[in-house]
Amino acid sequence: MNFEQLGLSTPLLNALAAKNYTVPSPIQAQAIPYVLDGRDLLGIAQTGTGKTAAFMAPSLQRLAANRPAFLKPGQIRMLVLAPTRELASQIAANAEAYGAQLKTTVGVIFGGVANAKSLRTVQRGLDVLVATPGRLLDLVDQRAINLRELEILVLDEADQMLDLGFIHALRKIVKIIPAKRQTLFFSATMPKTIKQLADEYLKNPAEVAV
Ligand code: AMP
Repeated sequence: MNFEQLGLSTPLLNALAAKNYTVPSPIQAQAIPYVLDGRDLLGIAQTGTGKTAAFMAPSLQRLAANRPAFLKPGQIRMLVLAPTRELASQIAANAEAYGAQLKTTVGVIFGGVANAKSLRTVQRGLDVLVATPGRLLDLVDQRAINLRELEILVLDEADQMLDLGFIHALRKIVKIIPAKRQTLFFSATMPKTIKQLADEYLKNPAEVAV
């Protein structure tokens, strides 16, 4: 099984080849076809399994296939919520690398970034925004961000986000995102609270575990 057989198109195949990814990891082999199909996904996977490419590469393909002529100020098409600045930065770097040939616009915001800089990041709208929940909620409260046309929501390391006390911010954010969206939910562990959150946010999800 290679990335082409999973359904990825040339711009993504080139980007993955440039990173020297030749063989899809198990989570990539399982998840990519579902994500390309527009399915919701519940992924039980740790960092290090290749889960970032598993959700990012097919999502970028979908976004590129369906790009509007222009983005409204503050409009975000795909939002990735992650627990820490380190993870958020890594995910954004991956999105830029995979989306290079698709001209995907990517931004990242996390706690500690100056407010003016965060506002500039989102001002013109973005294909992909990667954010920690607290900082994102600041932008929501300032009405600097438009999530009304969000197409894809990713919750990465959901268990970590809850452990770090982000549940309130997470709930407020998801509340303003359209119900008609694709949701991809990843967690290394699946305690009852996480399962309940997944049940609430996902519609008929495909499940992958590695
Ligand atoms: P992640 O679990 O997304 O944090 O990825 C873990 C590491 O594996 C990262 O350094 C990726 O660059 C790398 N990686 C992801 N997918 C592949 C692949 N198919 N082949 C080789 N390396 C990969």
